[in-house]
Amino acid sequence: MRIAPRLIAWQRVHGRHGLPWQQTRDPYRVWLSEIMLQQTQVAAVMDYYARFLKAFPNVKKLAQAKTPEVMAQWAGLGYYARARNLHACAQRVVSDWAGSFPTTAQELVTLPGIGPSTAAAIAAFCFGERAAILDGNVKRVFARHGGIEGDPSTRAVEQQLWVMAREQLPSARACNEDANAMATYTQGLMDLGATLCTRSRPRCQDCPIHSDCRARQEGRTDELPSARTRKILPERSVAIVLAHRPGHILLEQRPDTGIWGGLWSLPELSADASSTDFCTSLGLHVTKTEQLPAFLHVFTHYRLTITPVIVRTTAPKSSATEQCLSKPTLHWIKISAIDSKGLPAPIRKLLVGLISDNVLR
Ligand code: SF4
Repeated sequence: MRIAPRLIAWQRVHGRHGLPWQQTRDPYRVWLSEIMLQQTQVAAVMDYYARFLKAFPNVKKLAQAKTPEVMAQWAGLGYYARARNLHACAQRVVSDWAGSFPTTAQELVTLPGIGPSTAAAIAAFCFGERAAILDGNVKRVFARHGGIEGDPSTRAVEQQLWVMAREQLPSARACNEDANAMATYTQGLMDLGATLCTRSRPRCQDCPIHSDCRARQEGRTDELPSARTRKILPERSVAIVLAHRPGHILLEQRPDTGIWGGLWSLPELSADASSTDFCTSLGLHVTKTEQLPAFLHVFTHYRLTITPVIVRTTAPKSSATEQCLSKPTLHWIKISAIDSKGLPAPIRKLLVGLISDNVLR
């Protein structure tokens, strides 16, 4: 039995309708929400979405922005490659598409940071195209409904899920008769995955497609989709230097590419390097150092143990200026101005904690 008619009818009554990005068919706004929602919960995205649109109300404004301005708006949302691709994509839309997003999934997928599922979501929401989505939540719905075994992140299983996603699209006839069919169906799939067909304890009794769901029929909702084979992540360790002089902290602007690219952060040293030597090499006079407890931050590809070291300094006049002259990426930043800087979430958390405990002032 086809799932599309049931899902469309269910979405109209029980689906989500009040999310800020649902009130528009503007591809810029839909695209921004789709990128922000990758690997990130709706609740975490809401404020970022509103702030980002205020700073960059259209694709041209985003294309014209400087990288640090974009990164500052993204800081704390994580997976920073998304922000770099977002910026690159806006520039491509302006340079290659005269500032208007292309209107088909096939063209959208050629832009930086837009994968096949995101391209299909934008095309379905904004232009009513019959294009299949397959994000993490939707994979779970199809794996359960079709009883598809195996890790959905593997190529073979993903291919099966794509076949199912395409087969289950609303018919061409349904789309001709109802201009909103694709947008409602696509939203319905997303809503089902987010609200009923959840990772644990799915609410099958309320599900519009429960009558022919294999996982439910076979009592296997706990087993499907099959668990991902966990990779053991490599371990790395670094020290970070909190060089401090009264009222100021030394921050470094990271290069545009790489981990935390384009963000402000604390200078990073290899774990066994001397923070005192580092500060002395900058022309700072070190009065005291204090090592804080290490903490762990997990990136997609490795686990990083970070040991913060507070280095109290008095700076001679030559290096006490806003910019620390011996290394142009380093700047003395007023502690009161830290909020305005785009900092990675764990660094912001560390600094805010130390400031509120009066360790830094
Ligand atoms: S019946 Fe249950 S497991 Fe099957 S799709 Fe619906 S919510 Fe998911």
